[in-house]
Amino acid sequence: MKRAANWAAVSDFDGTITMRDVGDHLLLHYGFSDKETIEASYSLKVRVEDFMKRAFSGARLTERAIAAFVRTRVKSRPGFRAFARFCGRHKIPFEVASGGIDLYAGPFFKKHGVSVKSFFGRARVAEGGIKITYPFLKRTDLSSFKASRVSRLKRAGRKVVFFGDGPNDLKAAALADKVYASGRLYRLCRERGIKASRLTDFSLAIEFLKANHSSLCTR
Ligand SMILES: [Mg+2]
Repeated sequence: MKRAANWAAVSDFDGTITMRDVGDHLLLHYGFSDKETIEASYSLKVRVEDFMKRAFSGARLTERAIAAFVRTRVKSRPGFRAFARFCGRHKIPFEVASGGIDLYAGPFFKKHGVSVKSFFGRARVAEGGIKITYPFLKRTDLSSFKASRVSRLKRAGRKVVFFGDGPNDLKAAALADKVYASGRLYRLCRERGIKASRLTDFSLAIEFLKANHSSLCTR
């Protein structure tokens, strides 16, 4: 018999909550990067935060253009809004840890009417491009930071469900109690023997929590 537990959720943003990586999509759409450069950024050896700073430093985009791009072109993964509301209703901690930036995350959450604890790069329109800083990465890199959010919730006595799609999500996935992965992360988990379910729709995780979260199941 499975023991019910108190759960929490941690998620990546780009390519996980959204169907496509918003940063890559923006850079490609406006011609500030190319497919080869972006593909190379997914090596396990590349720090996403360094790639983002470099790639956006020459991206001449305004806040308004980015917000409009999000409203018209960025697709949310099915079930995301319902999942965020489900967590809110049942007091299940849910946080988003991302190497993406506030300039596109803000308009995205606003459009979907979702408010969730989150960590994003801070982006400011500067001369000739966009300047990004990561205040939460002073002592660590993105991949370890994501893992630290999972460990922190586990230390607080919770089991953690993690959602991700990229190589920088691997450390966090290895520590989580339940993983939903898509894309490169799904392949990496399989190669390394980390159990992961395919992330297609966040409603799968609602069903999972209904069956496993202590205040929701009767087992
Ligand atoms: Mg991602």
